[in-house]
Amino acid sequence: MNIEIIGGGIGGLTLAATLERVGLEYSLFEQSPNLRTTGFAITIHSNALHALRSIGLEEAIRNKGNAISCLRIATPRGRVLSEMHSDMIALHRADLQATLASAVPATRLHFDARIVESEKMTWIAAAEGVHSLFRQAVVGDELPPRSAGYTAWRGMSSPGAIEIPVSMQTTAVEFWGTGMRFGIVPLLNRQVYWFAVLQEDVASQACATDSKSFLSTQFSDWQSPILDLIDTTSDDTILKTPIYDRLPIKSWYRERILLLGDAAHPMTPNLGQGGCQAIEDAVVLGYLFGACRDGRLTESSLGSCYESLRKPRVDRIVKQSYRVGMLGNLNNPLLTRIRNLAMILTPETLHQRSMRELLTFTEPFVCY
Ligand SMILES: Cc1cc2nc3c(=O)[nH]c(=O)nc-3n(C[C@H](O)[C@H](O)[C@H](O)COP(=O)(O)OP(=O)(O)OC[C@H]3O[C@@H](n4cnc5c(N)ncnc54)[C@H](O)[C@@H]3O)c2cc1C
Repeated sequence: MNIEIIGGGIGGLTLAATLERVGLEYSLFEQSPNLRTTGFAITIHSNALHALRSIGLEEAIRNKGNAISCLRIATPRGRVLSEMHSDMIALHRADLQATLASAVPATRLHFDARIVESEKMTWIAAAEGVHSLFRQAVVGDELPPRSAGYTAWRGMSSPGAIEIPVSMQTTAVEFWGTGMRFGIVPLLNRQVYWFAVLQEDVASQACATDSKSFLSTQFSDWQSPILDLIDTTSDDTILKTPIYDRLPIKSWYRERILLLGDAAHPMTPNLGQGGCQAIEDAVVLGYLFGACRDGRLTESSLGSCYESLRKPRVDRIVKQSYRVGMLGNLNNPLLTRIRNLAMILTPETLHQRSMRELLTFTEPFVCY
């Protein structure tokens, strides 16, 4: 089988690591001169950690990040609205990608290699992200991405700039206000990853070069250490990203082109699942390539098998993530109060149950 992976992001690298484990030939092409990361840090949930376990990389990823055992949602003044147990790792994106790449021989990785078309007999695993060109070959013309109606800023404090109390070092907190949110995720080495989310009409007033003073004004009366976090982060390490997704498409493959990760299903980041689902896609697809090589699956059924194992689950997550964003960014004070009350009254076991399916990765029927 001739397999080409297009894109050296989380999805492409995980697929390369899986094919390496399966023992198949492949090449990975990345348009950038080296591994490219955008956005400082990332959280990897238990479902993706399970997928990484099945290719022998779970421990390596756990060792690179901070273990988060509690996810909390609170009001801007810190009143707890919901709390649930978690098994999640927060780490630098560069460390995640470097760890995935460490499982792949350098000779397989081709940088400065932008691929826009494919050979007839080659399997293309299109992992080139939200602006995927191969997606167009699968889907045809489609509507532009759907705006979620809000914008996120991401930043990372320098080591030791903010001291998180020991009791909170394994807790990720999201503060939900009216039409705005702020998240705090402790990392290793006394660093903190944070994000701020504001409605589009407010976000559009921000000056491109001075995010800090804009965000400080917006969050001026919010719970400590939000202001300190913004203050101690330099402006050139704050990244502003309008949030959007795409509605689920009919099919993830056409002939020998298979989509994975953001190329198949760009989603809002509210559940922290975009990268996690790219990891799941890649592990399943890699194992299915192995099943074809072993004669347990025909190449003509590869696309439909991959799609039936992955697409229904991911379609649900794309929708769930969008809904969580709508709830978190409710812009009406009365509705916000009702939301908060409902969250306080919901037992933790129910919060936990609503997340169970999301956080469970089902291994494909073949393993290597
Ligand atoms: C604000 C925000 C916060 C997020 N937080 C989280 C989180 O906490 N947890 C989580 O799991 N997810 C999170 N995500 C989502 C996550 O970042 C993405 O889902 C993930 O990066 C997708 O990985 P990918 O490999 O599919 O695509 P990408 O990471 O976009 O990688 C695509 C790669 O393909 C390359 N490429 C593009 N075109 C070509 C071409 N023609 N030829 C060769 N190479 C090409 C690009 O250079 C790039 O390296 C977040 C997203 C946002 C916006």
